[in-house]
Amino acid sequence: MRLQGKKTLITGAGSGIGKSSALLFAKEGAVIAVNDISEEHGQQTVAEIKEAGGEAFFAGADVTDPDSVAAMVSKVIGELGAIDVLFNNAGISGVGALHEVEPDVWDKVMNVNIRGVYLPSKYVLPHMMERRSGSIINMSSCIAEIGLARRASYAATKGAVLALTKSMQVDYAPYNIRVNALLPGTILTPFVENYLRTSYEDPEAGIEGIKKRQLSGDLGRPEDVAKAALFLASDESSFMMGSPLYIDGGVVFGKNA
Ligand code: NAP
Repeated sequence: MRLQGKKTLITGAGSGIGKSSALLFAKEGAVIAVNDISEEHGQQTVAEIKEAGGEAFFAGADVTDPDSVAAMVSKVIGELGAIDVLFNNAGISGVGALHEVEPDVWDKVMNVNIRGVYLPSKYVLPHMMERRSGSIINMSSCIAEIGLARRASYAATKGAVLALTKSMQVDYAPYNIRVNALLPGTILTPFVENYLRTSYEDPEAGIEGIKKRQLSGDLGRPEDVAKAALFLASDESSFMMGSPLYIDGGVVFGKNA
């Protein structure tokens, strides 16, 4: 029970890494406010947590919309009285070299991936500051550290999230709030399945290429990232502040052949 009683809000927890983290955190004793833009997917996560004997409820919102996020945070505070852990996980992919990306697509990727970290943090932080306690986990990506083909908009957002994490940490350290970032490599989730479909003529060949890129020789699984998020959420990481945590099968620091 590494998160016993921790009141936790996870964005984008209806799928992939967010869902896996919600299930794992609940198993470790956290009470989970499950956010997602899709009520159906979010409620499915809530049902699975409850079936496993955990505590959770749905807290729907579009993380790009200030009114929607403010209402969600009020609801969560109303239900739980506090938020100990905020996991800013929701995100979308963006495919294309810069000249191929249309302005509306560029803006959407910026909105979900950066504004979607800014807004939940903006509304949760005053509650954490009042209690002088909290852990915020921001979802970046190893793409913040390395160039990858045809991912211009996505890379720009994940680099921004890493920079934002460090800046937030300086501002909120005096309030005993920790802010860290996760930098996963390629993890097999619906997000990546969609990315494979839209960016490779032959998705199977694409997957083989990605496997070769990672020293592990395989894609990661959502659970691999959930376990790292669990560490950052828990008091076990109390000396980690403003740090990137890599879960990337060696893609950033290693080189194949
Ligand atoms: P996923 O399976 O697509 O899950 C993302 C979830 O976020 C979905 O349930 C999605 O809902 C939700 N969402 C999207 N826009 C939202 C919004 N405006 N408001 C609230 N929820 C919203 O993706 P994933 O692979 O688990 O990715 C989770 C995070 O990890 C993302 O930030 C991603 O950039 C990051 N990441 C992933 C990988 C990877 O290889 N998978 C690697 C590095 C970083 P809908 O599906 O209903 O739209």
